Amino acid sequence: PQTPAVSNEPINEYRPGSEETLALQHTMDKMSAEQVDIPCYIGGSEVRTGQTEAVVMPHDHQHVLGQAHMGSSTELNQAADAAIKAQYDWAALPWQSRAAVFLKAADLIAGPYRNQINAATMHGQSKNCFQAEIDSACELIDFLRFNACFYQQIMEQQPVSSPGVWNQLDWRPLEGFVMAITPFNFTAIAGNLPATPAMLGNTVVWKPSGTQMLSAYVIMQVFKAAGLPDGVINMVAADGPVAGAALLPRAELAGVHFTGSTPTFQHIFAEVGGNIGRYRSYPRLVGETGGKDFVFAHESADAGAVATALARGAFEYQGQKCSAASRAYIPSALWPAVQEQLVEDVKSFKMGSTRDFSNFINAVIDERSFDKIKGYIDHAASANDAEIIVGGGCDKSKGYFVEPTVIVTSNPAFKTMQEEIFGPVLTIYVYDEADFEDTLDLCDQGSVYALTGAIFAQDRYMVNHMSDRLRNAAGNFYINDKPTGAVVGQQPFGGGRASGTNDKAGSALNLYRWLSPRTIKETF
Ligand code: GLU
Repeated sequence: PQTPAVSNEPINEYRPGSEETLALQHTMDKMSAEQVDIPCYIGGSEVRTGQTEAVVMPHDHQHVLGQAHMGSSTELNQAADAAIKAQYDWAALPWQSRAAVFLKAADLIAGPYRNQINAATMHGQSKNCFQAEIDSACELIDFLRFNACFYQQIMEQQPVSSPGVWNQLDWRPLEGFVMAITPFNFTAIAGNLPATPAMLGNTVVWKPSGTQMLSAYVIMQVFKAAGLPDGVINMVAADGPVAGAALLPRAELAGVHFTGSTPTFQHIFAEVGGNIGRYRSYPRLVGETGGKDFVFAHESADAGAVATALARGAFEYQGQKCSAASRAYIPSALWPAVQEQLVEDVKSFKMGSTRDFSNFINAVIDERSFDKIKGYIDHAASANDAEIIVGGGCDKSKGYFVEPTVIVTSNPAFKTMQEEIFGPVLTIYVYDEADFEDTLDLCDQGSVYALTGAIFAQDRYMVNHMSDRLRNAAGNFYINDKPTGAVVGQQPFGGGRASGTNDKAGSALNLYRWLSPRTIKETF
């Protein structure tokens, strides 16, 4: 049987006054007037612990949208028990039955749940309507549908047989439970990290981010409505250290599917290493972590294209993408033209609430994040070797607003050139064309990360040369385009070095990590 033909989900444009805009705004208004009570999901039951955290709008932090029930080590362990209990029956289903659940979930998001999941992402994570649409609708739908196709391709992979011998690969899931730990910044990643192992027959304990609870709740409702059996995905909101302490040492831990910070992933690796004698199987550790993503322009580049890539790559979703452009290397001859357009573009961005669809910039996720970003901006404002050329303003009185900020530095090792900020801050180093080769080295060695990067050049030989020199500097490498916005099935996503295990979300490679095949030889 073929899985249904798949192509990327078309993006709604939400033009002012259009039917789709009015419908989404209506859903947003309803959602912001309600008080949602978000439970944990354990073995198919809704569990309300009474230990709650408020769910607020980052762009209007006094506006409480509801509350989420937090799990302790008791609920986390119950969730792992429920996952283990559900595993045999779930894994014993034909693979098409499991894939069908997630294909149905994709259709539900594409149709009846689209406004709800977008509204939840806009209110709860402060994404504008376009950023919500490409994430919580299109990317999540694409993950679910493309994964079903990749799954089919994997199932068809069989070894050769010979006369009297039939060899088979039985694509089994892992034994035990998988822990999915997901970030606030992409609703699609939050849905995909539990869904991928689950589609392949694993059962999952999912710990969403505390600042993504509204859309996490919609995802669980979609999975349930799609017919996901009880116990296959168990969602428990919890403090990270509590979840790690409860679940990482369990003997049945089969793997961790993680997107988040580099220090947290390194902690998980260390914990698993420290417990290595306890596990029934070696846990699979799949992580996508931090980035310090570059834009590197050659003097043959088109200045307008560079400026556009910087403005969009650095500031879409307030720079809160692991892939966001955050350091740039621009040749001095190109800089005046790049600067002029960049500053003009940044000044034209409107900032405010997500309810007004003309706002391009919304708030950063929470106070901790705001304070951290402001710390970097303050550092640049008082440094001798850096200058803020646009932005720099921060105001958290109503919402956590940080103006898109461009810093120019004469020091390629300046703090904001090296450290991940995860906010709307771009730092630019203007280099002398005579130092081109050395600057390539600086770009390659200038950060511990290697997630995304973009080069700009019109000279074909230079494109080759720069691609080669920066071959280990980015897992997703863009030529004459911004370094964000990887599309499922088109640009498999992930990076190396301190940016993760590079198990490429949106490709079959990621699926293999959740399978433990049995080789069968039968003779007749
Ligand atoms: N896949 C996203 C992109 O290409 C980034 C994902 C992330 O921030 O973790 O922009």
